[in-house]
Amino acid sequence: MLVNTLEILKDAQKDKYAVAAFNVYNLETVQAAINVAVKENKPVIIALGERYFPTVDVEGFAAMVHALAAKVPVPVALHLDHAYEKESIIRAIRCGFSSVMYDGSKFDLEENIKHTKEIVEIAHMAGVSVEAEIGSLAKGAYSDEEEGSGTLTDPQSARHFVEETGVDFLAAAIGTVHGMSQGEPKINLELLEKIQEEVAVPLVLHGGSGTPDEIISESINRGICKINVNTEVSMAAVSYLKEYFETNDIVHLSTVMSDVQETIEPVMTKFVQLFSNSKR
Ligand SMILES: [Zn+2]
Repeated sequence: MLVNTLEILKDAQKDKYAVAAFNVYNLETVQAAINVAVKENKPVIIALGERYFPTVDVEGFAAMVHALAAKVPVPVALHLDHAYEKESIIRAIRCGFSSVMYDGSKFDLEENIKHTKEIVEIAHMAGVSVEAEIGSLAKGAYSDEEEGSGTLTDPQSARHFVEETGVDFLAAAIGTVHGMSQGEPKINLELLEKIQEEVAVPLVLHGGSGTPDEIISESINRGICKINVNTEVSMAAVSYLKEYFETNDIVHLSTVMSDVQETIEPVMTKFVQLFSNSKR
């Protein structure tokens, strides 16, 4: 069933686990995420980034997710990831996204507050919850995201930001990167603890790919309720395809597409299990 994202994140916050938000792009990747959620009996967030709007028909995508979500007993939320334009957010709200992320992290704090507050007002009128970000993630290897400044989230600013904007959940920059870390990732768990002390809303970790399992568990224990996963799933599919084309002369698209789904499902399962088993 399709649910509001905030609903599942509040449950996660209460019981100290995190919900996986998988970045997806087409039928097979959505089917994989929902299949895994059903098999593991866990909620899941289907995330589509604004950066895919030029190639993915947003209304068609939303209708597809609605139809697939209606068929399953587990909670499924449809989330707009990293949106920079108000038009994209309104478009997503109109076609039934359950939540939107407004990314004003390139602005200074007050400017970010001003824009985020406006988005929160619009989204809340439609019953849609809002994620925002302060601080900014740097870009690691194999990432498909914009390069960020790598500025970590300041706990006091986070508190001020949440109070002023009325945002429903907050992405905190604590040292993870978009994509895979080059070298040992430096995740600041003490900072996360301080942010959690200042901020009551569920916290979001971007850059789930390549982050060591114990760090993921520790971050869930310190208030992370939603973890975004993109790169590791994409890498599994791409390396499968690379090997497949090297060893097979005759290829039919239908086989390749369903093989990709089969390849990414175990990768998604690993994350769903990791995020839920961290429960203390
Ligand atoms: Zn992100």
